[in-house]
Amino acid sequence: MKILDEGPSDFHHKFTCKGCKAKLAAETNDVVVGYFGSNYGGDRPTREYYVECPRCGTDHKLDRNKIPMMVRQKADQKQQDGGFKE
Ligand SMILES: [Zn+2]
Repeated sequence: MKILDEGPSDFHHKFTCKGCKAKLAAETNDVVVGYFGSNYGGDRPTREYYVECPRCGTDHKLDRNKIPMMVRQKADQKQQDGGFKE
């Protein structure tokens, strides 16, 4: 299959870091997938897309509905390559 047009690829998610109050703009390559929550007491960790503040390391979860599919696919790919943290 040939992809003729991948659709919008400019992803800029601007936000203020909860940890250090830095103003940040997340881009496609910053988004990663991780599991949040405990595995105890029937709670199951939820799979979340998130970005990490480059200044203080605070994780910021992203609303998956606001992330373009292309960006999610890239994050999924990174996880498959072994780049997710746990
Ligand atoms: Zn920060």
